[in-house]
Amino acid sequence: MTKPRIAIVGGGFTGLSAAYDLCKAGCDVTIFEHDADIGGLAGTFELSPGVRVEKFYHHWFTSDVDVLNLIDELGLSHLKRYVSSNTGLYYTNSIFRLASPLDLLKFRAIPLLDRVRTGFMALIARRINSWRELEDISAEDWLIKYGGRKAYDVMWSPLMQGKFGAEAKNVSAVWIWNKLKLRGSSRNKKGGESLVYLGGSFGALSDGIRAALEKEGVTIKTSTSVTSIVVDNGRAVGVDTSAGRHAADVVLCTAALPQFLEMTPGLPASYVDKCQQIRFLGNTCLVLRLNRSLSSTYWLNVADPSFPFVGIIEHTNLDSKENYNGEHIVYLSKYLPTTEALFSMSAEETYAYCEPFIQRIFPDFNRSWVNGFHVWKARYSQPVITKHYSHNIPDFQTPIKSLWLNTMAQIYPEDRGTNYAVRYGRRVAREILASVSSAQGEPEPLRRVVGQSTSE
Ligand SMILES: Cc1cc2nc3c(=O)[nH]c(=O)nc-3n(C[C@H](O)[C@H](O)[C@H](O)COP(=O)(O)OP(=O)(O)OC[C@H]3O[C@@H](n4cnc5c(N)ncnc54)[C@H](O)[C@@H]3O)c2cc1C
Repeated sequence: MTKPRIAIVGGGFTGLSAAYDLCKAGCDVTIFEHDADIGGLAGTFELSPGVRVEKFYHHWFTSDVDVLNLIDELGLSHLKRYVSSNTGLYYTNSIFRLASPLDLLKFRAIPLLDRVRTGFMALIARRINSWRELEDISAEDWLIKYGGRKAYDVMWSPLMQGKFGAEAKNVSAVWIWNKLKLRGSSRNKKGGESLVYLGGSFGALSDGIRAALEKEGVTIKTSTSVTSIVVDNGRAVGVDTSAGRHAADVVLCTAALPQFLEMTPGLPASYVDKCQQIRFLGNTCLVLRLNRSLSSTYWLNVADPSFPFVGIIEHTNLDSKENYNGEHIVYLSKYLPTTEALFSMSAEETYAYCEPFIQRIFPDFNRSWVNGFHVWKARYSQPVITKHYSHNIPDFQTPIKSLWLNTMAQIYPEDRGTNYAVRYGRRVAREILASVSSAQGEPEPLRRVVGQSTSE
């Protein structure tokens, strides 16, 4: 029996996780990755030889069991670091610590009753079992209902606008419910937030998966773009790439949804139309390498949508600066429509634009603190989770035979994240294996049970 040949478009964590289970089940897998390295949105870059950090800030919650279990499976448990996170809020020229329920109780910018109500919102979120009842409600209405108007105006509205801009009002309660539930489930006994990071960065996880894949004979072709899915008679039979044609029995695309639509000929117009209802935001991330720390806060939300960033994430308050040549690594993040001027700015222009805003928060900050900076941009960084989002999500199985889709926009009711990339990647692998097995009359190599996710 010949091994099924599987071509995977995209070497992010979805593609890598799917490949991991497919190759273990006996498939012949080739991954095509446009970038020079694997990792996708959770990819890293080198600060100096051997010292890597994420292009976009990343951490895990303690409840991210799918990815944490994968780390164990790959024998990388010793690299896991559990860290207490320290969050804050910049509001009307002041920084407020908001790392625990007690901090929230002391946050005098909102009335005491609303502080108490806001404190209970995470508990309320955890008690809601069916996201379906939230699909018809906007995040704004839900937040006002449970946290109060003043809490919404002071805290939530600027944060929602900072994250979703003009789309903020369209965001569904499912999105905020899921965020509150997730953060609430990653808390220590004192109510503080506990996070997980990996020694050697997320790149250490990519390295671990790559080694496991290559051991099983998977070919990973980086710097290779898939230009088109090859469709013959309604069936995917391979991919055309910047390095030539590659024949396959099954194609799995993990690129962003708009990219999938661009590279796939022959999709029914109604299917394309439905997929196009899903809108995306881009992200631009300024990474500063400083010789001084900005503050002791890891995650500072900026509750002022006029700023060119919604968060200041001082990574070296999560993972020691000693791991980064003694430099303080700080991310300034902005989600935005890619038509906004900031998205097209050069690194120098982005820094110059942001500097006065950094100084408004940290008045002593100046260019002499900056050893260097980098700017990373992602065109498809966050799908906008609108009301009744579930109606627009395409299935894993596409209208074209043997062509499968597993992309960030299908993650729901959870929101994108590497944990879900792993969970959904392994889930689509199981579905592909089941489909190939039934088509082939259950060949021996596909009988093995693969990666049952613990969280399903
Ligand atoms: C600012 C930011 C912060 C984040 N923070 C966190 C965090 O703290 N924790 C967390 O877990 N997650 C975080 N995430 C989310 C996480 O990075 C993503 O959910 C996850 O990496 C998505 O993986 P993926 O494989 O589904 O998609 P991607 O990582 O987007 O991978 C898709 C891959 O397909 C490739 N590709 C596209 N087109 C082609 C083509 N034509 N040919 C070949 N290859 C192609 C792309 O280059 C890419 O590598 C964050 C994301 C952003 C943007």
